Formats: sequence, C-alpha cells, structure tokens
Amino acid sequence: MNWREYVRNVTPYIPGEQPKIDNLIKLNTNENPYSPSGVVKDELKKLAEDYDCLRRYPKPNCDALEEALSEYYGLPREQIFTGVGSDDVICTLFLTFFHSSLPVLFADITYSFYEVWAEFAGFPKELVPVKEDLSIDINDYRKENGGIVIANPNAPTGKALPLEKIEEVLKFNRDSVVIVDEAYVDFGAESAVSLINKYDNLIVTQTYSKSRNLAGLRIGMAFASAELIAKVKAIKFSINSYTMNEPSLRLASAVLKDEKYFRECCDKVIKTREWSVEEFKKLGFTFPESSANFVFVTHSKVNANDIYKALRERGILVRHFSIPRIDNYLRISIGTDDEMKALFAALKEIVA
Ligand SMILES: *Cc1c(COP(=O)(O)O)cnc(C)c1O
Repeated sequence: MNWREYVRNVTPYIPGEQPKIDNLIKLNTNENPYSPSGVVKDELKKLAEDYDCLRRYPKPNCDALEEALSEYYGLPREQIFTGVGSDDVICTLFLTFFHSSLPVLFADITYSFYEVWAEFAGFPKELVPVKEDLSIDINDYRKENGGIVIANPNAPTGKALPLEKIEEVLKFNRDSVVIVDEAYVDFGAESAVSLINKYDNLIVTQTYSKSRNLAGLRIGMAFASAELIAKVKAIKFSINSYTMNEPSLRLASAVLKDEKYFRECCDKVIKTREWSVEEFKKLGFTFPESSANFVFVTHSKVNANDIYKALRERGILVRHFSIPRIDNYLRISIGTDDEMKALFAALKEIVA
C-alpha cells in the first residue's frame, strides 16, 4: 500500500486571481470598490489597546456577532449561524443537509463552488440547465431531489428571481432543504429571510464580502428555522469549534451599527451599474439585466477571451470562465466611476 492509493482526490475551485500589478484596475472578484466603514478603523484601534484578548480562545458560539446579527435582523439567535465567509457556511450546510441518494439540484450556470462541494461531500447532483436567456425556470425544480441550492441573484449572470418564485420552489419542495445563496442580494434583489419562519426547510445565506466591503474579514451567515440551525451547528462543532477569530468577530459586530454607510455604498454601486449598462450597450455589448454588483456581458463581434486578454494588457482585470455556454461572456465587477471610465475607454479601443 502507498498513501497515493488512499488519498482523497478532488478538483478544487479556482478563485479569481489577486495579482500584484501596479495601478491594476481589479474588476474580477466582485469586491466592493469602497473602503470599509470608519467604524472598522475605530474598532481596530480598540483592539490594539486590548490585544491581550488574543491570548484566549474566541467565543465558540460567536456570541457577540450572533447577538449583533440577531438585533439587526430581528431574529432569535437560535435562527442564526455564522462562519468564515459564506463559502465556509455553505460548505457546512452541504455537509449537513445533502446526505440523500437523490440528486441535489442546482443550475448548470451558477456559482461553480457548488459543484466542487458536491464532489467533495460525495452526494449525487443534477445540474439544471438555465434557459437560453440564462434565466432560472423554477418549473425545472419540480422533481424529486435530495436538496436544492439557488443563488439569488445568480452568479455569474446577475439575474434575480422575484420572491414569489423562490416561494414557489419552497411550496413544491416541502421535503427538501432549500438553500438560497444571497451573496449579492443587497444590490437589488428581494431577500428570502422574510420566509424562514414560514418554511422550516429554507436556509438563506448572506456575506460581508460584497455589499459590506469586507471580503478580507471572511464573514458569512445563514438564517433558518431553529431546527435547521441546530443541525448545522452540530456539524460545525464536529469539525472546528473556533472557526472565527476574535478580531473578525469584533469588527463584524461593530460594523452593523453603521447602516448609513452600508446603504450609501450599495446605492453608489447600483448607480454606477445603471450608468455602466448604458455604456456597455453603446459599445455593442448585450447582457442579462443585473441585480448584482457585476454585469455579465457578451459582444456581438469581438470574442470574450480576446477582450479579456486585451484588457489585461491594459492593467484591467475582469473574469472570463472557460465553461461551455458562457465562454463568450465576461463577468465585470462594478468599480468606482473612475475605474469604470477607464474600463470603457479601453473597451472603446478594443471593440472598435
Ligand atoms: C462571493 C460569493 C460567495 C462567497 O462569499 P464569501 O466571501 O465566502 O462570503 C458565495 N456565493 C456566491 C454566489 C458568491 O458570489
């Protein structure tokens, strides 16, 4: 026997690159272009004064953060779970709830991590094709399954489903756990958190990485019935009790107080997106209507990979996926107005 025969082989997810290039315009990983709230800076200063707190383990139940979230969302703590980014949260949900011999349903064009986790967790999956216009048809989710996961708005398309459609999926699947991944919800979609007390099989996940300008902090959360949350916590405590570090817990709790700045940043991103889509149109791009902080564009004449390369040469990074059906598209994050102006100046040369 050799260890190579019993190693667990997986195909990992490939995150968007984070290269060190001077003056790079980074529109490839949907980070927020604006700085975190000033509350974060104040809290970091307080933490420096109280650095001895790092000698001890953090609270395993993430008390401060879960209490702050409980107050912010008006939900009891028993209905909240937190983790190291929503990637950690969703992976733990998959390990907890997707344990059947029936396939878990998700779209063929969606967050590609779902497929990676499915393989890792070892449950069967069925990739449900999105329609020609890249939309999710909820009628495709009316079949026997071992669970469902839907990103709303979907990534990388940016298309959102209205709340009634999410509710239809829930009504039709009372015996399955349905995960709604709301990583981009704050940029213009309706949240399904309002439905968790009506459907005890629903779990909604959100993150600090996009709309709260704190991808570097790694904070994600899930909201669901107390029964589902208890199940996922049991799994978490079977893997690692101390998933979240003390500084992250403190900063993430404090930043919830600055609602004004959060709304301002989301509004600015939405405004820049609305201006950007008009610019994309003028240059001959088409795209599904975006409810997120990115636009998924394709050009009638110039190939997406060629545009990707030409932009990269000019120090502008966007995301291209070499995946069937969408390999002629680019996912472009919404940056500041100045970054987008630089993007359009470059695109004008490239697609002219
Ligand atoms: C970015 C993203 C996540 C993960 O975000 P975290 O940084 O891990 O919180 C989850 N789902 C979708 C659809 C995303 O785009």
